[in-house]
Amino acid sequence: MIIVLRPSASEHDLEQIVAQVQALGLTPHVSRGVTRTVVGCIGDEDRLREVPLLAFPAVETILPVEKPYKLAAREFAARDTEVVLGGAAIGDGAVYTIAGPCSVEGGEMLLETALAVKEAGAVALRGGAFKPRTSPYSFRGLGAQALDLLAAARAETGLPVVTEVLDTRHVALVAEKADCLQVGARNMQNFALLTEVGESGKPVLLKRGMAATLEDLLLAAEYVLARGNRQVMLCERGIRTFERALRYTLDIGAVPYLKRETHLPVLVDPSHAAGRRDLVPALALAAVAAGADGLLIEVHPDPDRARSDGDQSLTLETFAELMEQVREVAAAVGRRAAGAAELPTR
Ligand code: PEP
Ligand code: MN
Repeated sequence: MIIVLRPSASEHDLEQIVAQVQALGLTPHVSRGVTRTVVGCIGDEDRLREVPLLAFPAVETILPVEKPYKLAAREFAARDTEVVLGGAAIGDGAVYTIAGPCSVEGGEMLLETALAVKEAGAVALRGGAFKPRTSPYSFRGLGAQALDLLAAARAETGLPVVTEVLDTRHVALVAEKADCLQVGARNMQNFALLTEVGESGKPVLLKRGMAATLEDLLLAAEYVLARGNRQVMLCERGIRTFERALRYTLDIGAVPYLKRETHLPVLVDPSHAAGRRDLVPALALAAVAAGADGLLIEVHPDPDRARSDGDQSLTLETFAELMEQVREVAAAVGRRAAGAAELPTR
């Protein structure tokens, strides 16, 4: 249930309503928009009917939320959520790009990539330290050592770092070193992990499971939000369908759908969807045109020698060319692509 306040409502009115909701045993979530404030209520909604809330002069209307996800629902927030990552406010309407290697393979390649993607216009550095691999015999990342390399690359470039956390046992360590915790496709419904990253209070990049519906994705986000962590970004990265030509099928329709359904930022990862580097730019540009708040792109200084996902990794040069095109497509649809150089230092 959502209580929508009148634009004229005062802080005192808000406090009274919040107290009333709490007295009924529900949890109020206050969201302030430009013109009005809404109070989302989680709990036994029948109890709200016991009080004539509409009789409060500050209350304009009360809306039910029919969706199974509440905190993630668009109506629950008075404005779009902006996830703060370094100087970027992802979700503010601009197009932001997070780029870097699939896995951190060493300090030198990481720093070389970080400097190049920053120069080309990325606002954050990605890089896997703990890698989910289909085969246990594949390279599974440098682990804790890679977290230190990411922190060193951040110190050198100023780019915030995004890295995947695979296991609840590593959440505290990854949260200490990284700026944003990625929950990967294979873990999208690892509810214990979602709860832990929710507790961490760090921004979360939640990737869609390869067999997950959009409702599943939104409910996974709800787990994080329910722990009081509102800094959540969703990421479409391709789903498994009958089509085998590409690695996954990028569900481009997910972008406008999610933008309507939720106030959370929506990113697209064209790299894992395409599975091959020549198709990555077209998918990235389609995502920008469809309204994505950002891109997550794999880039490697020598993709043919990469220890994971080399086939889909862009070279430093092709990434720079793609970023030019991203700026052009963004401008063509009335948007702005923001690079690290233009952002405020926070
Ligand atoms: C990744 O980003 O490197 C990754 C493993 O992605 P996904 O979870 O989408 O497969
Ligand atoms: Mn990868």
